[in-house]
Amino acid sequence: MCEMSEEYRESVPKGLPQPRLGIEDQKCVKCKEGLPVVVIRAGDAFCRDCFKALYIHKFRAMLGKNRLIFPGEKVLLAWSGGASSSSMVWQVLEGLSRDSAKRLRFVPGVVYVDEGAACGQSPENRAKTLAEVKLVLQTTGFPWHIVALEEVFSLPPSVLRFAAQEPAGTEGAYKAAVDSFLQQQHALGADGVERQSQHCSQDPHSHTGPPATAQTQALSRLFDSVKTLTAKEELLQTLRTHLILHVARNHGYSKVMTGDSCTRLAIKLMTSLALGRGAFLAWDTGFSDERHGDVVVVRPMREHTLKEVAFYNHLFAVPSICTPALDTKAPEKASIHRLMEAFILRLQAQFPSTISTVYRTSEKLIKAPRDGCAAGPRCLLCMCTLDVDTADSATAFGAQTSHLPQMQPPVAQAGAAAGPCCCAGMGGAPRCCRSCLCREDPRAQVMEQLCYGCRVNMKDLPSLEPLPPYILSEAQLRSQRATVEQEVREYLLGDSEDETRTGES
Ligand SMILES: [Zn+2]
Ligand SMILES: [Zn+2]
Repeated sequence: MCEMSEEYRESVPKGLPQPRLGIEDQKCVKCKEGLPVVVIRAGDAFCRDCFKALYIHKFRAMLGKNRLIFPGEKVLLAWSGGASSSSMVWQVLEGLSRDSAKRLRFVPGVVYVDEGAACGQSPENRAKTLAEVKLVLQTTGFPWHIVALEEVFSLPPSVLRFAAQEPAGTEGAYKAAVDSFLQQQHALGADGVERQSQHCSQDPHSHTGPPATAQTQALSRLFDSVKTLTAKEELLQTLRTHLILHVARNHGYSKVMTGDSCTRLAIKLMTSLALGRGAFLAWDTGFSDERHGDVVVVRPMREHTLKEVAFYNHLFAVPSICTPALDTKAPEKASIHRLMEAFILRLQAQFPSTISTVYRTSEKLIKAPRDGCAAGPRCLLCMCTLDVDTADSATAFGAQTSHLPQMQPPVAQAGAAAGPCCCAGMGGAPRCCRSCLCREDPRAQVMEQLCYGCRVNMKDLPSLEPLPPYILSEAQLRSQRATVEQEVREYLLGDSEDETRTGES
């Protein structure tokens, strides 16, 4: 969800605001008066004020044109401490402090996930980082939630379930919500607004001491058991997403904002393609991501490049926190993520429209799944609708599943129940061999519920045993449900056949 690793690395690009030679005789392209301090693209030199206005406008316009966040709605800002997400938090702060006509009207909170254990940080270093984190969070005055990644070991299986969303807000509903909010504010007067935001900052903070040593060890064991850095990155991202989703649901946030910049999204798009997630690009990189149903992820920084973010943070003293990531110090070819990042950034240095071209492509992607798949089963880990496709085995997913019948997702089982059954002879109800296999082998149980990309990643995890319990429980639950559903279907089918025969005689 929140590409936090992004900002850890190049938070400050080389050659930051050094007023360039020859720039003195230039004027700001916007106001034609100010002294330019920032050159975004060749020829686009901005003065400090115009750059700030442009930066803020981009953020507001992204939220404004999508009209997804309703007034008074609780929004959780996923903050990694990195440049982009820090800039996002400061944009929200800025937006809330404006005069009432232009101010942002949602109610923000911040979540910080402490990933120290996965990245092999010592307890001392983690404590030091957390102290810095708290200091910054206190400055914002927003309610905040600090969660350790270890908490995935106590997540409930329900976090992996799709929760239906209330009917999507229409244009009319949005306008009505804005009007009623404004009336309410008017009745409260300016004081009411102030009191409301005061109240926010006093919310109880959910952090409860450092995680138990046993859980820290379990998390280290899990990450140590993963064979490749690529799969580690994906696992970290998956677990972090589940944890943030859990915090959001528990505290009534219906939106989560992540700080993905345009640069990061371009890299993510190419990485996702390479990882076999082509079917989900629109969810992985679009402005909004509705895969969880009740909690929608939005990416309001998607028009800002990393370069702009770095300039802005530098010029306007936006604090960020540097923490090591999984791939800190890893060589360039250590993972698909690292390789793709190096490739895109190097290409961008030579061809300045690389990132914008890739990014524009992401805007054109449509989310509609294949016909008939919309209500189908969802991937256990990334929670995208499985692109199940039994007819057309030309896809990688089809090619893979046609060789491994026991790995077909539950939906495919219904149509392909024919064949001899191993349980029939043992006096049990007729079941297909596939479900017997699943009940015995937890690995097959998990694998059959994954999308192609997640399946490929799981191959680098030799044993599922170190995984947090909620994943295995939910896999078991789903698999049992699929078996029962199939039994019921077979029973009903048998009944109707009998009836037909009786009718004929
Ligand atoms: Zn200017
Ligand atoms: Zn998946």
